Amino acid sequence: MYVESKLHTRNPFVTKEVAPSIVRSVDVFIAGGGPAGLACAIAAAMHGLSVEVADGMKPPIDKACGEGLMPDTVHALHQLGVDISTTQSHPFRGIRFIGSPNRSRPARNTQADFPQGHGRGMKRVLLHQLLLDRALALGVHLSWETLVKQTAQQHPANAPTGQGTTTLIHTSRHTTRARFLVGADGHQSRIRAAARLDKATIAARRIGLRQHFAIAPWTDYVEVYWSDHGQAYVTPISANEVCIAFVAHQKFESIPQALSFFPDLLARLTAALPSDRPRGSITLSRKLHRVTRDNIALIGDASGSVDAVTGEGLALCFRQALALADALQDNNLPAYQKAHVAMHRLPHFMARTMLLMDSSPLLRSKALSAFHRRPQLFEQLLQTHVGHAPIQILGSRGLIATGAHILAG
Ligand SMILES: Cc1cc2nc3c(=O)[nH]c(=O)nc-3n(C[C@H](O)[C@H](O)[C@H](O)COP(=O)(O)OP(=O)(O)OC[C@H]3O[C@@H](n4cnc5c(N)ncnc54)[C@H](O)[C@@H]3O)c2cc1C
Repeated sequence: MYVESKLHTRNPFVTKEVAPSIVRSVDVFIAGGGPAGLACAIAAAMHGLSVEVADGMKPPIDKACGEGLMPDTVHALHQLGVDISTTQSHPFRGIRFIGSPNRSRPARNTQADFPQGHGRGMKRVLLHQLLLDRALALGVHLSWETLVKQTAQQHPANAPTGQGTTTLIHTSRHTTRARFLVGADGHQSRIRAAARLDKATIAARRIGLRQHFAIAPWTDYVEVYWSDHGQAYVTPISANEVCIAFVAHQKFESIPQALSFFPDLLARLTAALPSDRPRGSITLSRKLHRVTRDNIALIGDASGSVDAVTGEGLALCFRQALALADALQDNNLPAYQKAHVAMHRLPHFMARTMLLMDSSPLLRSKALSAFHRRPQLFEQLLQTHVGHAPIQILGSRGLIATGAHILAG
């Protein structure tokens, strides 16, 4: 016999249009079939767990994204059994920072190669299709155009607290009973709200705008253009197309307006045509206080996020998926909570550093000059960014030395 309780008395899912009959029981139900949800489904299925994913949209799902997969992201995808080298994507060897020129001096540029491997630029819809194919091959049950509407915890009567708890998930089409519920439902996560996991620290909230251009990539780096109006970054995504993402505190009215703040980039694109319609989205630096409660866990943007300019959002999704699947298999969500905290430390440090450069023109100019004069500083930063060197390399004496070079700039 079960005792049922709603996840939360102010459950935002509560609606009258829920399908009452249980059609299936699974080990893991995942709300949201974006990169985080599909990656988690893949990792859980690789452990032999039965999995259902429900998403309100239908594939392939597109979203505003810089579409750059850093080498550590490519590695995490490989661990999930997803190989992107054979599909339409474009390699890049490192990152180039490009300052904005002013009347007194030309733009200060600096670049560094990844210490190991290449990153890859890849259209978001292609990545989504690859993840979807892999999930299907592993027997994951995928329910598209299916909104998660309401959830309710069921506790077996007379069992010690928390033991044997399952969740009933009512969607717009059917009802499923699951041992674990995973919220992979993005920035506005309803699962997060329903599980009362909303408590968070938000360090920055910016707006992103993406546009593809039909032009052969002119570089094998991801180029990040800096200005007083945010950043524009260019990722080569095929032999004849690039993806440009603009990120700023203010909303750009249009692509021409956004480009007007980046004259060097505008000059590159004079002969190029946009190859699709622009797409916008917010990007947050948000740290949640907790990402698990009872048999519920959050993943991807639902579980907190780093500013888009770090290019680490997808890597976090995939790494979290691997850690969460281990925890689900071991029935040990506290282990995932711990791993999640550790995983976010470095990307948040990098996001803070880049947001500082965004907010202070003086610091930005000094940092870009220092990187220009001493490229090894930038190399160290990139090595740390992709997890190849420990954060301590920038800590204590390293950080002081870096700061001194920047201030001397
Ligand atoms: C402008 C911009 C540029 C970026 N550039 C990069 C980059 O270059 N590299 C990088 O690694 N990262 C980048 N990111 C970050 C990256 O895009 C995100 O971290 C990533 O998309 C998060 O994936 P997700 O699956 O958690 O969320 P989402 O992709 O938002 O997926 C959530 C899914 O949940 C579904 N959903 C929501 N509510 C419900 C419900 N009630 N029921 C059913 N389904 C539901 C939605 O339909 C959606 O499909 C960028 C982000 C932005 C905004």
